[in-house]
Amino acid sequence: MDAAPIEVFEGEVKTPDRPIIPVILGDGIGPEVISVARRVIDSAVNKAYGGGRAICWKEVLAGESAFKAKGEWLPRETLEALRDYKVSLKGPLTTPVGGGIRSLNVTIRKKLDLYACIRPCKWIPGVPTPVKRPEALDVVIFRENTEDVYAGVEWAAGSEEALKVRRFLKEFMGVSIGEDAGLGLKVISRRATERLVRAAIKYAIKNGRRSVTVVHKGNIMKYTEGAFVKWAYELAEREFGPLIVAERDLIDKNLPAEGKIILKDRMADSMFQQILLKPEEYDVIVTPNLNGDYLSDACAAQIGGIGLAPGANINFETGVAVFEPTHGSAPKYAGLDRANPTAAILSGVMMLEYIGWANAAVLVRKALERTIAQKKVTVDLARLMDGSEALTCSEFGKAVINNL
Ligand code: NAP
Repeated sequence: MDAAPIEVFEGEVKTPDRPIIPVILGDGIGPEVISVARRVIDSAVNKAYGGGRAICWKEVLAGESAFKAKGEWLPRETLEALRDYKVSLKGPLTTPVGGGIRSLNVTIRKKLDLYACIRPCKWIPGVPTPVKRPEALDVVIFRENTEDVYAGVEWAAGSEEALKVRRFLKEFMGVSIGEDAGLGLKVISRRATERLVRAAIKYAIKNGRRSVTVVHKGNIMKYTEGAFVKWAYELAEREFGPLIVAERDLIDKNLPAEGKIILKDRMADSMFQQILLKPEEYDVIVTPNLNGDYLSDACAAQIGGIGLAPGANINFETGVAVFEPTHGSAPKYAGLDRANPTAAILSGVMMLEYIGWANAAVLVRKALERTIAQKKVTVDLARLMDGSEALTCSEFGKAVINNL
C-alpha cells in the first residue's frame, strides 16, 4: 500500500496503514533523542501490526539545520508540511540568540494555532525522584499555547514604541509608567479560553478522569486570569452541564458527585504546594500559558525530571498536532549520546494514541517500564539509582526495543 497523509474530518483522525509523518530532528540533543524515539516507535508498530502498518517519516528542516541548509530558521515548506500532514514529531529547537528572532517553538505553535499544549505527568516505577510518593501524581496539564504574556506583544524599555504606549496610557488612561520600563501586554480572550477548557473537559470525559482543575491568578489579574476562570465555569455549565459538578456546589449545596467530573479552581501560587502536598487530588489541569509553563516543569520534576516528560501541541478543530518532548535542546549534551530519550519516546506514544494505534502505544509504554525496572537507564538517572546500568541514549533505545 502507498504512503498517504493522515486526514482529519470533524475532529476524527483517519490514519492510513502507511501514514506520512513529518519529523523535525531538532537542535542540540534533538537528533539523538528523536532518532531513538523513531526506532522504538517503528519497532513497536511492526510488532503490533505484523508489518501491516508502518510510519513513512518525512524529515523536514527547522532550527540550526534549516539555517545551514537554506539560510532560514523556519522554512515555509516545513510549516506547510506540519499543517498539511496533520501529525508530526518534533525535537527541541534552540532559540536563536540575538537578531530579534523569537522562539521557533512559539512561532510554530502560533502559526499553526496549536492552542492546547498537553503535558501528562505520570511516574514510571523505579525512576528516582525528589518526592516520597511519586506514584500519587498522575496529572495531564492543558496549557493555553497562543496568548497571555507569551503572545509577543511587547516593547523594549526606551524604544519609540514603548514611549508611544507610555504617552497613550498617561494621556488617555491616566496611568503613569516609568520611562525606563519595558512593556508587555497580557492577552487572554474568551474564545481561546473556551476552546482550551472544552478540550480539557472532553479529554477528562473520554479518559474517565475524575476532575478538571482551573489554575489561575484571578484574584490579582481580574480581567485576564479572573476572566479565564469565570469563562471556564460558564462553558462547563453551558456545554457539559449534566456531566460536571463544581466542587463549590458539592460543598455549598451538598450535591452528589456520582460519576460526574468535579470542576475545581485553584490559585496558581497555592497550586505549586498542592501538587506537592496533595497530588492525588488533581487530575486534568487547565491553565493559561505562563502558569502552564511553570507548572509543567514543576510536575515533571516530581516524576523524575523533564527528560521524562512528553508533550503535544494540538488544534482539535483542524486536527493539526505536533508531538514533542517538554525539554529543550540541552546544548551541553549535544552529540554526546547521553541524553535521556524517554520524553521523546513518550511523545511518540502520545502520537500513536492520537492516530489510533493504541496497541503499538501500549507496547512502547510497557517496554519502557520494563527497561527502567531492569535498572537500565541513561546517565541522568543512573547517577541517582543504586545498582543501575548506565546506558548511552542509543543503548537505552536498543534496550527498550529488546523489551518490546
Ligand atoms: P533544556 O534544554 O531543557 O535543558 C536544561 C537541563 O535539563 C539540561 O541541562 C539537563 O540538566 C536537563 N535535560 C533536559 N533534557 C534532558 C534529557 N533529554 N536528558 C537528560 N537531561 C536533560 O533547557 P535550556 O537549557 O533552558 O534550553 C536550551 C535551549 O532549548 C534554549 O535555546 C531553549 O530556548 C530551547 N528550548 C526549546 C524547547 C522546545 O523546543 N520545545 C523547550 C525548552 C527550551 P542537567 O544539566 O541537570 O543535566
